[in-house]
Amino acid sequence: MTTKINTLLESAQTLCDGRGARFTAIRRKVLKLLLEAQGAISAYDLLDNLKTTDSSAKPPTVYRALDFLLEQHFIHRVESQNSFIACNDFSDLHQLQLFICEKCQDVQEVHSLLIQQSINDQARLNDFQVKKQTVEAYGLCHQCRVD
Ligand SMILES: [Zn+2]
Ligand SMILES: [Zn+2]
Repeated sequence: MTTKINTLLESAQTLCDGRGARFTAIRRKVLKLLLEAQGAISAYDLLDNLKTTDSSAKPPTVYRALDFLLEQHFIHRVESQNSFIACNDFSDLHQLQLFICEKCQDVQEVHSLLIQQSINDQARLNDFQVKKQTVEAYGLCHQCRVD
């Protein structure tokens, strides 16, 4: 698990280097916390966590780091919870759908081309220009149903 997180942090570093973006220590730390998390985390929980190692951490520090990570497509916002998850595929710019477990709070990111196609088709039919979209479904994950 730790190895996987390190590999992802390294690939984020490489992508930032290629884009001329600065992957600072704080940005790296926030991404690491999100990669380690079970479910989604709010900015406040991230701040609390950062404060354990850096007492000077302030809300703007976290928000700036989150904005950067969103811009680089390393994380996604869970709109209905105003929280954040690490992306499961840094390499790619994609539309996503989320399955959110009400019991364990786990968030699964999926990429359905079919859903995307339907939204695009409906937008075209209704002469609507989509700028941003959110598809979030609530329910129970496999683990919580077998427990
Ligand atoms: Zn993603
Ligand atoms: Zn669950």
